Amino acid sequence: MSSSSTTTTSSSSTAASTSSSASSLTTTTSFETGVQYGFFFDQSRCITCMTCTVACKTWNQLEPGPTKWLRIYEWESGTFPTPEINALYAPCYHCQNPVCVDAANGAMFKEPKYGAVLIDPNQATSASLRAAWDACPYGSIVFDSDAPNANASKCTMCIDRLEQGLMPICVLSCQMRALDFGPLSDLQAKYGTNAQLNGMPSPSTTTPSVVFKQKDARQQIVTLDPNSVLSLMGNRSPLPAVYTDPSSVTTITPGLVGRNQLNMKASSTEELMDYTSNDDA
Ligand code: SF4
Ligand code: SF4
Ligand code: SF4
Repeated sequence: MSSSSTTTTSSSSTAASTSSSASSLTTTTSFETGVQYGFFFDQSRCITCMTCTVACKTWNQLEPGPTKWLRIYEWESGTFPTPEINALYAPCYHCQNPVCVDAANGAMFKEPKYGAVLIDPNQATSASLRAAWDACPYGSIVFDSDAPNANASKCTMCIDRLEQGLMPICVLSCQMRALDFGPLSDLQAKYGTNAQLNGMPSPSTTTPSVVFKQKDARQQIVTLDPNSVLSLMGNRSPLPAVYTDPSSVTTITPGLVGRNQLNMKASSTEELMDYTSNDDA
């Protein structure tokens, strides 16, 4: 990043130079302050392994269950011959127009050093944070339960780590290098300014501090005739046919695919768990 410098604090320069993961865990950064920081997510790299969600829970000592400061969504779309699996990294996007703050009646604020949007525990009530949740288009405030007085919390941008010169733990944990973090202007210079993936709410209301790389549409890289393939897959003579109507493969019966769309605003903790399962964290 052009506006920050790094210092390796490992006592073993040899170890640091021979292990990128060890290096990244022991490298501190001099973060420039007074600018808006944000995240980058490359949808084409994410394999929905959930490592980042577990790292977030572990660092922040969050209980298993719906207190997910970081949610990874996975949903299916398309049908044969171009079925797709989609992924979304969803912490708080620390918006530049944080409508949650406006709705929270003093219970939330945008701090000035990194532009992180935070909850003020001294002002927070369940009602004020329910109002903030209603306002947030991304479901980034999470509740421990559906009880009216449930505790609410959210991603802090790892501000405690930033203050120690450490990158957010979710970003460091991603072995696919699908994530990046830094001054938003640097991220935009490097990756562009797209702040919306297919299926997401428009960024026009909140101006989220994030850059996304949309994965490419699935392409057929092996030349084949889909109709011939359908015929071959259905026919397993002398056994009975798997199917006789090819449309049973190329159309989806409603309810067959549980997660066929992105749902960032789950109406209950149970629904949140359904849409972000694959991890028990
Ligand atoms: S660790 Fe990386 S690849 Fe795994 S779910 Fe998170 S963003 Fe995706
Ligand atoms: S993502 Fe939601 S909770 Fe986070 S700053 Fe934006 S509006 Fe607020
Ligand atoms: S920045 Fe920190 S608190 Fe926010 S999702 Fe990543 S690990 Fe969790």
